[in-house]
Amino acid sequence: MINGSAFKRVVVCFFVFYFSIGVSQQEPSAVLSEYLRYKSITGNEKPAGLYLKSVCEQFGFYTTVFTDADSSYNFCASLVPLNRGLPSVLLMNHIDVVPVDEQGIWQQKPFDGIINNDTIYGRGSIDMKGLAVMQIFALKQIKETIKTDSIKYNIVILFLSGEETGGKNGAAKMIQPEILSQLKPMVVFGEGGGGLTHVIPGKENELCFFVSNAEKKSLWLKLEAKVKSRGHSSVSSSKTADRILLKSIEKIDQAEEHIVIDKSAEETFKEIGSIMGGVKGFIVKHINWWLFKPLRRKIVRDNEAIKTLVTNSYQLTQIQNPKGPINQVAQSATAFYDCRLLPNKSEKPYILKLLFRIIDRRIKITIEDESPTSEPTALDSNYDKMKRAIVGEFPTAHVIPVLFPATTDNSYFRSVGVPSYGILPFRLSEEMLESVHANNEKLPLSAISSGIKVYIRLLQSYNP
Ligand SMILES: [Zn+2]
Repeated sequence: MINGSAFKRVVVCFFVFYFSIGVSQQEPSAVLSEYLRYKSITGNEKPAGLYLKSVCEQFGFYTTVFTDADSSYNFCASLVPLNRGLPSVLLMNHIDVVPVDEQGIWQQKPFDGIINNDTIYGRGSIDMKGLAVMQIFALKQIKETIKTDSIKYNIVILFLSGEETGGKNGAAKMIQPEILSQLKPMVVFGEGGGGLTHVIPGKENELCFFVSNAEKKSLWLKLEAKVKSRGHSSVSSSKTADRILLKSIEKIDQAEEHIVIDKSAEETFKEIGSIMGGVKGFIVKHINWWLFKPLRRKIVRDNEAIKTLVTNSYQLTQIQNPKGPINQVAQSATAFYDCRLLPNKSEKPYILKLLFRIIDRRIKITIEDESPTSEPTALDSNYDKMKRAIVGEFPTAHVIPVLFPATTDNSYFRSVGVPSYGILPFRLSEEMLESVHANNEKLPLSAISSGIKVYIRLLQSYNP
């Protein structure tokens, strides 16, 4: 008969054996839990980066530090040293996280790395510390199973700073020739869409993985009206800076949508239409046919998700006046816009031309900031490899290429012509999706192991 402690030992041995041939949840979740404890809010990445670098070195990876400042700590871990000069498959993540809302309600504290009910809680668990850990453990498995003397491609994981504030302290530095020539990326896999259900009308249960191959370009504009008007407000006037600005804001709101269905949007609609099936599916699949042109504007208007894929957006974020007493008419008024543009070179001139045409001539437009201009990545054999890796792990899943509505570090690599894809290789529930950049960010442990397995399949396909 087996006693209690012997039974426990057998169980432990079984788990050790089982997980050594499969993918363990324990070790990755312990690393992630520790990593989440570093409060690496943008500008303070280095301590968290140093921790991950030490993990990578423990696993026998080769590490290279590119920039070493507290707010710009960027390094990579690779299967073989960079100076072997092999082209690389680059897995990318960012060390920084967004701040937490101090009043927000969290089931577990955001920087304690608590694991409860098979779920790990913490700021960055999805975006994107969890992904970094998946990449590390996938590379660990690859390192343990392949001979590195005859490989065709290096596998490189790039850990970056400053993504959440636009990538200037991270990815922007990595595309400089002296660093890019060391990294030699043949393809980049960074963050993007995940595995979602309830996204295809009429086919709510279908699991769809959205791999981003393009990103919208952010363009932040300042619109400033400076008008000399009577300073005292006892006599009313319609020609004040505020009135002029508000009228122009109204005109921008009323501007007709500019719909562009490019090749990459066509691919998205083709996939979605095939899943939908029926007449509606047929129309979506062939949305660019001249025959359906009259329907296009209605379809776009009725569906927010589709609208995001084929139009530019202009979000008014702030209106400001210089401080003054209520009885003094402000002599200047400023509005800020966060514009998100479709990824082709012609959109920025298009927007600026449109604004110059419709707004008051007395308003000065200044570009405050913008992300790099990058064309969509054409779906190539790297996309097929990622698709096969996802379907290998989730056999019933659909894989759909998509334009990502925000900008990530992927855009920097696309801007220098490196094919770049964005994907979170696990199922994302509605609740998880809502927790990104919000309260209660969390990642089920099962997502960590499925993510690792997708990455292993992907990496194995490069050095079979
Ligand atoms: Zn992110």
